[in-house]
Amino acid sequence: MKDTIIMFDMDGTLLDLAFDDLIWNQQLAIRHAENHQCSLEQSQTSLNQFYQQHKHTISWYSSDYWTATVGVDVLQLQYDFKQYIAPRPGCFELLEQLHKQGYRCWLLTNADQAGLKLKLDQIELSPYFEVILSSEQFGYSKEHQLFWQKLQALHPFSPEQVVFIDDTAPVLDAAQQFGIQHLLSIVQPSSGRAARTATELDYPAIQDLTELLDYLGKINTKVKHEQTA
Ligand SMILES: [Mg+2]
Repeated sequence: MKDTIIMFDMDGTLLDLAFDDLIWNQQLAIRHAENHQCSLEQSQTSLNQFYQQHKHTISWYSSDYWTATVGVDVLQLQYDFKQYIAPRPGCFELLEQLHKQGYRCWLLTNADQAGLKLKLDQIELSPYFEVILSSEQFGYSKEHQLFWQKLQALHPFSPEQVVFIDDTAPVLDAAQQFGIQHLLSIVQPSSGRAARTATELDYPAIQDLTELLDYLGKINTKVKHEQTA
């Protein structure tokens, strides 16, 4: 089934979310407290208020927005800690295998274009993907149906040919609503946090990324069976 397009999320799926946790949950509050001459607790409280207001919107993913809103250059902050950007287990083994087997791979991220560039400069994912796209380009995050409609208009695909893997349930929900049936999540998006249990996960999930190969094997067997039935 080499017409299959495998669509990947980046942060928490191909890359370890521990980096983003470090930036957004630790270092941003520290730098915010320095810039505003307030206590770390005060910074955390005000940042949490912003987080609650903007979660899952396009603003949430925009470095420019956060820089303007909280008075910290968050892109610079990410550059200052870029050595902590790292792939998740099995990332390159999987991508190599998919490349050898002729699968088409797309990278779809809610990271803004500047954040995407930083990560691609650090970790050599680019050669494995025929499409690499930040939702900032469309003005709608992956949680939104318009993201999927605009993606399909720019890069035509039929939802039945797609396998989509993403660590965020509301994103998988949106993909499902759009008609994508083969959906997978990630057991432990951040190496700095505990693995999620089956009850916390709304979708089938894998830990080491190479487990995707078994999943693809099962889909292919099923397709062959249906074709010969
Ligand atoms: Mg993610």
